[in-house]
Amino acid sequence: MQKRYLALQDEIHNELEHTPDPRFIDLTSGFSGIPDDIDTARVDRQVNEMRQLEEALKQLNDLNFGDCIDCTNEIGFERLLAYPAAQRCINCQKHHDRMYRHEASPTL
Ligand SMILES: [Zn+2]
Repeated sequence: MQKRYLALQDEIHNELEHTPDPRFIDLTSGFSGIPDDIDTARVDRQVNEMRQLEEALKQLNDLNFGDCIDCTNEIGFERLLAYPAAQRCINCQKHHDRMYRHEASPTL
């Protein structure tokens, strides 16, 4: 999951590398100004994804978050991003949903 984060960082840096202003490279200090020739929507999306990853990583670090309460395996980063409140891995969730179908919990 760290790898995905670093890959995104690279993508954004590649996107911005032709601008000489280091303010635009240092995304962590704010995203105040973007030159016109940059695909802002794409960079925006990447920055958003990075922030999501940052949040999720922080949660994982702070709370030792992300282990399935049933089988103790990792829930999976993609799943946690899509469903941060997930307490079970996808397999255990399916099993749980079959057992407790009447509760109408969301399936993923
Ligand atoms: Zn599990």
